[in-house]
Formats: sequence, C-alpha cells, structure tokens
Amino acid sequence: DLTDPVLSSEAELAFEGALRPKSLEEFVGQTRVRGQLQLLLTAATMQQRTPDHILLAGPPGLGKTTLAMIVAYEGGRPLRMSSGPAIQHAGDLAAILSSLVPGEVLFIDEVHRMARSAEEMLYLAMEDFRIDIMVGKGAGATSVPLDLAPFTLVGATTRSGLLPNPLRDRFGFTAHLEFYDEAELEQVLVRAATMLGLDVDREALAEIAGRCRGTPRIANRLLRRVRDYALVHGGRADLGAVRAALDLYDVDPLGLDRLDRAVMETILTRFGGGPVGLNTLAVSVGEESETIEAVVEPFLVRIGLITRTPRGRMATPSAWRHFGIPEVGAT
Ligand code: ATP
Repeated sequence: DLTDPVLSSEAELAFEGALRPKSLEEFVGQTRVRGQLQLLLTAATMQQRTPDHILLAGPPGLGKTTLAMIVAYEGGRPLRMSSGPAIQHAGDLAAILSSLVPGEVLFIDEVHRMARSAEEMLYLAMEDFRIDIMVGKGAGATSVPLDLAPFTLVGATTRSGLLPNPLRDRFGFTAHLEFYDEAELEQVLVRAATMLGLDVDREALAEIAGRCRGTPRIANRLLRRVRDYALVHGGRADLGAVRAALDLYDVDPLGLDRLDRAVMETILTRFGGGPVGLNTLAVSVGEESETIEAVVEPFLVRIGLITRTPRGRMATPSAWRHFGIPEVGAT
C-alpha cells in the first residue's frame, strides 16, 4: 500500500537513508520542535554535559528516527539504535546500557513496547546512570549496582499517552510531531527531487504534497513512483504524470490509506455516520484500538473527516461528500 505510513521494505530503508536530513537546519517543518531541540542541545553543549533525555511522540513517518540521528550528529555523539519490541528482557537492556560510551545517544523506537522488567531498569538508568544487576538465582540472588556512562535516551512512540507515567516523567522534554502542511511537504519533495536529480514540475510536486497523508515518508515514496511513471512513459514528470501514476496505484485524492478508508467506510455505512466508540470501531476493522487512536484518527481529524465527541467518533459532512454517499438523515 503506497500510502501506508509504516516503512515497507529494505529498499525503502536504504532510499530513506540517502534522503534523511543530517542537521536541524536541513530538517523541514516542525518549527516549534526544531526550536525546542536547538535550545536543549545548545545549552547542553555550553555546559559540556549530555543533553536531557528526549521523547519524540507522533504518528509513523513524520521524522522521529531522523531527529534522533540529528541529536547525535549535531553534538558529534555516537548513536546506538534499538527498539521496544527487541527488548524482551531486562537483560537485553542491561547489555545495551552497560556497553554505552560516555555521551552516546541511545535511540529506542516504539519505547512503549519494551518488557515491563526492562522498563523498570530504565527508570534508574535514566535518573542516576546506574542499574542493578541480579547475580545468582533463588535465595542466594544478590543485586550488584553497576555505574553507566552518561547517555541521552531518545525514545520514540506513536503517542506519549501509551507510556507509563514514571517513564514519561523521566524525559526532560517531549516533542510532539505534527502532520506536515502542504507547503512543508512541497519543500521535502523539492529537496528529494534535487538530491535524486529528478526534473519534476512544481505543480506536480504540489499535487503529491496534497496526496501523501501529511507524511514525508509517503511523499518520498510517491515521488519514486512518479519517477518510474515518467521513465517508462518517456515523458516529463508533470501534473499529468503524477495524476496518472497516483490513480494507477489507487492513491486517494486526499492520500487516505487502506486503513483510513476502512475506518471511514465503517463509520459511514455500518454506523450511519456515528457516533461510534473507539473499541467498536477497532473490532469492526480488525485493527488494534491503539493503532486506530494513534495513527488513523489523528489524520482523519486533521483533515476534517471525523470529529471526536464524548459519545464517540462522528463523520463530518465533508466525509459523506468525499465518499460520495448521501448523508443519513440529510434532506
Ligand atoms: P517510524 O516511526 O515509522 O520509523 P519516523 O517518524 O521515525 O517513522 P523517519 O524514518 O524519521 O520517520 O522519516 C521517514 C523519512 O521521511 C526519512 O527518511 C526522511 O527522508 C523523510 N523525512 C522525515 N522528516 C523529514 C523532514 N522534516 N524533512 C525532510 N525529510 C524528512
């Protein structure tokens, strides 16, 4: 699915690596977060200490991994990358933490999915740069303290609300990443097209910007398909080529992906436009409610297709129009 905000393949990973901004200055959009991070990093440099722990919260594909890398590059610090699902035992985390060098940046993606025992170890590590390691088993087991090198944890999560409070409180700063507006996405695309040496019309880039679900990852992916289209058809990458390529791949005019559409169609046709509760909705489309709440819903609210009410999610009049269904109860 071309509009799935989640990374889809090794090839895409390599492609993204090439396009990833390497400094805060090169990073497009997220003006607030950039300013906040700049201040935090500069202050740490001036005081010659490791920057505070940073939590990056927001839907997939908006630049969390990129920002974690920038935190390391900007301070000239080494970077270690891991992820919550890879840390299934406290021992997995102990192995990582005890091998960090002074000043290292540790990036843990999906930090809310770490094992509980590891999470508890992380509290002490974040606060005091220390962990307690259990040696031996049963009645003879003892805990041995181990000092760690000072490090900066950069955690990423799709929603900060998914983190237990004690963990969330230990981050010195939480950056909330927002969907990008079309002007920012155009900038992302101009940059990518330049780096890839593609000659693409400006209005063609604007069309992609409006159909990429507010997400740089999707923008770059659509650009690649448009490049393919122009290559195969031997024409220019102009507005016509963009429209033809995106229609061929069934990319919605608003950039909705398969799951977005399933959610909208469920609300509109099965529940008469709502209100419908989050859990009912999740069961109906066969997805976890966490994903609906953290990934799907923020975008649908942002583009004005649904509203959140105390009784549940409701479709807006523009949702009925977009899906071409006469509004229930409308005259
Ligand atoms: P996930 O959590 O799904 O891994 P993410 O939020 O970590 O996603 P990244 O991997 O950082 O997202 O970003 C995806 C790609 O989008 C990057 O390789 C980069 O090319 C591009 N990108 C993201 N943010 C920006 C930006 N602000 N400016 C330019 N390019 C960006």
